Amino acid sequence: MAVERRASAGRISLDMPVKFLKGVGEPRAELLGRLGIRKAGDLLWHVPHRYEDASTIMPIVAVEPGMDVTVMGRVVSKGVLPTRKGLRIFQAVIRDESGMIEASWPGQPFLDRSVEKEDVLLLTGPCRFFHGRQIVPREYVNLGRDDEGTAGGRVLAVYPATEGITARTLRYLVERHLDALLPLVVDYLPDPVRRAADVLPLADALRQVHRPATLAEAIAGRDRLSFDELFMVQLLQRRANAIAREARTGIRFERHRTLTTALKEALPFALTAAQMRAIRDIVADMCSPRRMHRLLQGDVGSGKTVVALFAALLAMENGFQSALMAPTELLAEQHLHSISKLLHPMGILPVMVTGSLSARSRREVDVRLQSTEPVLAIGTHALVQERTRFARLGLAIVDEQHRFGVEQRAALGEKGGAPDVLVMSATPIPRSLALTLYGDLDLTMLDERPPGRQPVTTVLRGESQRERVLQFVLSQVNAGRQAYIVYPVIEESEKIDLKAAVTAYETLSGGVFHGRRLALVHGRLPGDERDAAMRRFRDGAIDVLVATTVIEVGIDVPNATVMVVEHPERFGLSQLHQLRGRVGRGADASYCILLGDVFGESAARLHILADTDDGFEIARADLRLRGMGDLFGERQHGERTFRIADPLRDEAINARALRLATGMLEADPELRRPEHAGVKRVLQERYARALALFRVG
Ligand code: ADP
Ligand code: MG
Repeated sequence: MAVERRASAGRISLDMPVKFLKGVGEPRAELLGRLGIRKAGDLLWHVPHRYEDASTIMPIVAVEPGMDVTVMGRVVSKGVLPTRKGLRIFQAVIRDESGMIEASWPGQPFLDRSVEKEDVLLLTGPCRFFHGRQIVPREYVNLGRDDEGTAGGRVLAVYPATEGITARTLRYLVERHLDALLPLVVDYLPDPVRRAADVLPLADALRQVHRPATLAEAIAGRDRLSFDELFMVQLLQRRANAIAREARTGIRFERHRTLTTALKEALPFALTAAQMRAIRDIVADMCSPRRMHRLLQGDVGSGKTVVALFAALLAMENGFQSALMAPTELLAEQHLHSISKLLHPMGILPVMVTGSLSARSRREVDVRLQSTEPVLAIGTHALVQERTRFARLGLAIVDEQHRFGVEQRAALGEKGGAPDVLVMSATPIPRSLALTLYGDLDLTMLDERPPGRQPVTTVLRGESQRERVLQFVLSQVNAGRQAYIVYPVIEESEKIDLKAAVTAYETLSGGVFHGRRLALVHGRLPGDERDAAMRRFRDGAIDVLVATTVIEVGIDVPNATVMVVEHPERFGLSQLHQLRGRVGRGADASYCILLGDVFGESAARLHILADTDDGFEIARADLRLRGMGDLFGERQHGERTFRIADPLRDEAINARALRLATGMLEADPELRRPEHAGVKRVLQERYARALALFRVG
């Protein structure tokens, strides 16, 4: 047996086109190509995205409403049902040896085309009672007709598939060629690195990933492959960062200590230790001959603005202009308001730059920006528009950077000469992850909040308590406080969501809050109407603001002490945390009430919010629960960097990758040593950017 395998393995190579593998052929080769499998060796790197092991599958007879289960069974009937509301539901009845159960996929009628009678389905999801037991799959895998299942208690690898090629076919192909391909694999990691990383040799890892005896084996295998991805990306990022840093000649500011010292003396509070550290980092950057490129991360309310202000004054006392860009006009206005107050004693008046300036004011602004006066410009994306020209921009600050697109963010740094760049974010993420995602930035964490802040009491309340919740809000209003009621309109184009907010607004105005001053704001309102309503709320002319998530950033109303969030289960945790940051800004006790389906599936998730006030913890939990897509989806990330690793799940591995990559580059910046040749080759094969960064020769 073994001898025969060797013999056929003699002709196989990792580099040969996949179509020459037995069982592939032209048509399949094309389909495999769509999955990125072109060479025989690519098959090894097409790793399962999940595993099922027999112990996790429940006999259908034992499934009860309220459980979250994984079952496997054959389709005995299927079809598409229309509902009264126009939603179409795909339903299938599946059977195993113990019994039958219905599965239901609302809004996915197209599944009718890919799921056939007799197919074996593996389903995971909650079971509910709806004319009988019904599973609503969160995930499913079609194993095809040929039910090999998890026979013999083996762990079943589930491969990412595509139209025309099933997970089962992939499993069959890998299984068939694994033994011939594995001996050809050469480990490219230097042994000391591999041991320091505490990961398996490559061939062992690949074997365990594809053919694990236990889930633990599969995970150990995957850890090695994850390490490799993270390590390679860290190498690229660190190297790119080092090169860019050297190449970024910038302004060399000097510490004149005129305006900055005046600000420190004028501040109505003492800076936190974290703020002082951040200011020190930034001042050091600005006073170096290189351009600053720094990300300042800090939770809502950690006091980022004042840190940015010190930077702006340092630029100003050197005779340079600075610009602070905010994502909305309202937020820009708020910055203008609070910053003007702080700068008033110094006789400095910032300039406002937004799209809604009158032609005349705009001309005045243009004149000031184009003079060499060292102004501080505060504004929206109007700051990066063509017509906005700075005579002497020395510092570009982007606030709430996750709200901007990549281009807009970059555009501010391209205004004027070569200004130093500071971007700020209130969605804090762990350091190794931040360096993976924003490798081109240096990082400062503001991990401390100003003292004396009252935590916001956060509670979960079900539908049955709605009346009591609203009465509580009314009592706060009667006591002279203000309130927010927030609706989840995730996509502002979702008419149904919007209608819910509008209807609720009408009901509330006529009902509990009859006679109070209410306003409704949502993303579909013209910007000026929206801002006008928010301004009235800020000025105390509105008691209850019914709003969609447009209020997420920025609005600062210390008299607002209560926030009700409707359908909290539809928000991400970080978003809820940001929303909650709108209350608790004054001296009064404040409340955040999550009202809706808070006892169902999302209970555990929502409890995290009730239990902690730490934005870092929340961001981490959120990323873990929802994956990175939501926070760093296409919008920010562009290409998909990781196929196997998940920088969050693999936080510890990523930290090791960061440390080892940094060490390798310190010893051998261009990877010229023979023992690093393997790593360099892999970089050049897998990452286009590597060519530019690690040229040969
Ligand atoms: P964020 O980091 O969310 O942008 P801000 O910069 O808006 O936070 O600051 C939130 C509030 O805290 C502001 O009212 C600000 O004046 C205040 N603040 C900032 N730093 C301190 C401090 N060291 N002590 C007390 N209050 C502070
Ligand atoms: Mg802020």
